[in-house]
Amino acid sequence: MHRRHFVAGLIASPIALAWAEGNGVAATGSDAQVMTVQGPIAAADLGLTLAHEHLYADLRPYTEQLAKPLTPDMDAVTAVVLPQLQAIRRLGCRSLVDCTATTLGRDPRLIRHLSQASGLHMLTTTGAYLAAGGRFIPPYVREESSAQLAARWTGEWRDGIGGSGVRPGLIKLGVEGDPPSELERKVLQAAARTHLDTGLVIAVHTGPWAEVEPGRNARCAFAQLDLLEAAGVAPSAWIWVHAQNETQAEQHVRAAHRGAWVSFDGFRPGQEARYLALLGRMREEGLLEHVLLSQDAGWYNAGVPGGGEFNPFHPLLSELLPALREAGFGEDEVHPLLVRNPARAYAFGSRRAGNG
Ligand SMILES: [Zn+2]
Repeated sequence: MHRRHFVAGLIASPIALAWAEGNGVAATGSDAQVMTVQGPIAAADLGLTLAHEHLYADLRPYTEQLAKPLTPDMDAVTAVVLPQLQAIRRLGCRSLVDCTATTLGRDPRLIRHLSQASGLHMLTTTGAYLAAGGRFIPPYVREESSAQLAARWTGEWRDGIGGSGVRPGLIKLGVEGDPPSELERKVLQAAARTHLDTGLVIAVHTGPWAEVEPGRNARCAFAQLDLLEAAGVAPSAWIWVHAQNETQAEQHVRAAHRGAWVSFDGFRPGQEARYLALLGRMREEGLLEHVLLSQDAGWYNAGVPGGGEFNPFHPLLSELLPALREAGFGEDEVHPLLVRNPARAYAFGSRRAGNG
């Protein structure tokens, strides 16, 4: 209750509001489009975007999900999540990418409902999540060939997800192998094929091992990039999700130089200095045009009464944004991070290797 009173009291930032209605996405081209849960829109209309968040999730192992399916209680979820969405809307946010993977409780009808109720554009996913010790891997991911998986995902793009009419706006994978396992390589091949057929960007949760061994997360990342490029996909069609987990900043620089999207997406209040350092290095290198910024927050947890403790969506706007400005980031640097880059990253259209 205290939390909700707090978010209701947030004051809108005038500059964020000035960006809200998607000015200045010239870099995507005027005809670029993004597939939202309510259908395609001009990429230029996304406005201020949180590029990697989660509304609702079912975090039980997949076998348990199959044995005892849960249907989201729309009213209960809305009561918790909608005030959080209204709070970021007041702060100028216009779009939110729900990166919840297919077998972690992705629910296209619920996301569409929350998009309609909040007035925010939202995106959802297709793909497969192989991280977290494999507990979210459904049998078909092991059984099907990469061509069959690609056909499954392209089918969701073409026909909508499970009869909902909602089409995915990105391909979300989870890959942690160093080097990637045979199963991970198959899924990456399927993603490459899906990208070439649909134009959807490939966002890959990449293993969190930097605390164990600096450079290891990057090895997993570059192995993915090599495989995708060999399959004909340009690095600009790939997002290094959770890149902040790699402690060697030069690896972020390498990936961005190659044309990939580097996603610093785990911001929490108190981490301002860490994010300023990550972004400061990319600014020094002139690479802010390749960076996405978000929080990996939210997570109404289906298996817990009341959804558990919901991580609010506003701190990036209410805490990090003012810290960036105070540290001397100009509007011409902050705007790409929250407006232009997400529009370019999520615009669909196939990006073939060799064409940038
Ligand atoms: Zn996430």
